[in-house]
Amino acid sequence: MNESKSSDVEVFVHRKIVVSFRCPACNLEKSINVEKIKDVSHWKVNATCRRCTHKFKVSFNFRKFYRKETSLHGLLYASFETLEPLGDVHVNDLSLTGIGFESERCSLGVGDVVVIRFLLDDEDQSPLEKEIEITSVRGFKVGAVFRDTSGFDTVLGRYILP
Ligand SMILES: [Zn+2]
Repeated sequence: MNESKSSDVEVFVHRKIVVSFRCPACNLEKSINVEKIKDVSHWKVNATCRRCTHKFKVSFNFRKFYRKETSLHGLLYASFETLEPLGDVHVNDLSLTGIGFESERCSLGVGDVVVIRFLLDDEDQSPLEKEIEITSVRGFKVGAVFRDTSGFDTVLGRYILP
């Protein structure tokens, strides 16, 4: 048996609580409540079709689409080592892979790499510190991606996912 790491079925989760996918063998549709898996660090589950008993792997991809609107205050820094901030930002949205914010005073360009620090408005006021790369600038509105996406950020995941 080839233990492939890749999934047979990939489900993109986009602002939905319940998502559905189909058995690759017989096409039977199955729905799953994403609430139940949102705290799992690897969204890969083994599924067995209840009709044809085909076994397959399903991965839930929250990363590309899931974006939470926020209203958070943040600070930009030139690097992790810098203590003096470059300026204030207002964090408008967060996803597992990136961030959108407004920055009135910072002159940022596409491709710039900076560090952003902010507190989430969750129960613990969890501090986050991320190295980001600017991907879009439209007036004050800035879009950026997190540079280190190697590990799943549990704190961010719990905050962002519904
Ligand atoms: Zn089936």
